[in-house]
Amino acid sequence: MNDVYEIAPVEGGKAGGMARVATLRNRLLEENPHVITTLSGDFVSPSLIGTLTYQGEKIAGKQMVEVMNALGVDYVVPGNHEYDIKEDEHLKRIAESDFQWITTNCFHKVDGKIVPWEQNGKPFPDHVIYSIDGVDIAFFGSTVPFNKKEYVSYTDKYESVKATYEKLKDEAEVFIGITHLEEDMDDSLATYFVPELDLILGGHDHVNMKHQYGDVIMTKADANAKTVYVHRVSYNKATGKTTIQSELVSIDETIAEDPTVKKVVDKWVNISNESMANMGYQPDEIVMVTKDTLDGRESSIRYKPTNYPIMTAESFLFVAPEADLAIFNSGSIRLDDILTGTITEYDILRSFPFGGGISLVDLQGDVVERVLETGTITNIGIGGYLQLANAEKRNDGWYIKGEKLSASKTYKMALPQFVMGGGEANLEFLKNYQNQSQNPDSFKEVKNDVRDIIMAYFRQLPQGN
Ligand SMILES: [Zn+2]
Repeated sequence: MNDVYEIAPVEGGKAGGMARVATLRNRLLEENPHVITTLSGDFVSPSLIGTLTYQGEKIAGKQMVEVMNALGVDYVVPGNHEYDIKEDEHLKRIAESDFQWITTNCFHKVDGKIVPWEQNGKPFPDHVIYSIDGVDIAFFGSTVPFNKKEYVSYTDKYESVKATYEKLKDEAEVFIGITHLEEDMDDSLATYFVPELDLILGGHDHVNMKHQYGDVIMTKADANAKTVYVHRVSYNKATGKTTIQSELVSIDETIAEDPTVKKVVDKWVNISNESMANMGYQPDEIVMVTKDTLDGRESSIRYKPTNYPIMTAESFLFVAPEADLAIFNSGSIRLDDILTGTITEYDILRSFPFGGGISLVDLQGDVVERVLETGTITNIGIGGYLQLANAEKRNDGWYIKGEKLSASKTYKMALPQFVMGGGEANLEFLKNYQNQSQNPDSFKEVKNDVRDIIMAYFRQLPQGN
């Protein structure tokens, strides 16, 4: 599996859930004692539970490590989201892991020095060998160097894997990559750098796929364990040939939950439910039923206009119809997944773990234009990339509510208070206009919090479409 942030089922209980994955693993163990369970990166963050505090400490992925330990995960590579949390939190998560961390290209930066990450006092290995009946299977992989935190250092994501292969090529019979790379990077790895790999267990992309690059099979499952890939690998000692049968398995209501893992999952779900109840939310309450796919993946929302954050901007106009336009910073959505079917309060809370209110500000057209240009062009690829409602760029410039923007006219703009306060890169200048803004406590009966606003907006949309 890959990219798992949610320990319990999603889509109103229909899809995913680590206790169901455990049941599948137990079934496979009955078929063959040599079951190897891997998670190809992105598990300690993001999640709503991870943002909460328990016993005086931020949870920060502890819930997931506990569940992965109970499930019996064997090997992981770090994903970019592993470095969302603070250095000391990251070190604690490694120390708590019963599974083996592997990397060829991620290193720890301590006082300016680059050293290997350590688990139980030993450096992370660049590979592990699993032996069955004299046949050695080598696992090794790399991570996309996207999350450039102060405490992390990366070497080349391709060359590091190639160098490890060169070292192992006479030692092992089967070569399996566990990677956290973008799809085209897995293609490059398999096509140009290590075409001798038998299989790549990929991650980072959140939608299932299977490709064949030359002799290399590459698969990724859906995020949050909505599916997992099962690969049955056999090696013929006489011919030296490896055969792989790959099956995408849906993790759904037809699979019972393993009671041992469920107990651990429930412990953390109860902690988070209690915390949500204290904030006045009911996690299981349905907000909307939709056939649409709401795209909250970072690879979409930080790069291009996308339905979920656009609907968020539209929700601001729903509660504040006096505004001429609304802007929303994509970085406030921390879902990194898609939502579909039954959307609950929990889904909205996990999409917007930081919450926060919105402001209404009166700005002159030239300033509005600067905000829009900066937010949609300069900020492509970062959290400050803006999604818009009632603002559109045409060939001859910006239009607000269908009318050409006038530099001297004053517009009322709705936007998150975080952005208004200068919290987003390249938009810091907005804080100079705070005296022209209002921050109401509520909009009629809707509390001024992005989570309440979007829930109110979704509830009144046509349902089931
Ligand atoms: Zn990732």
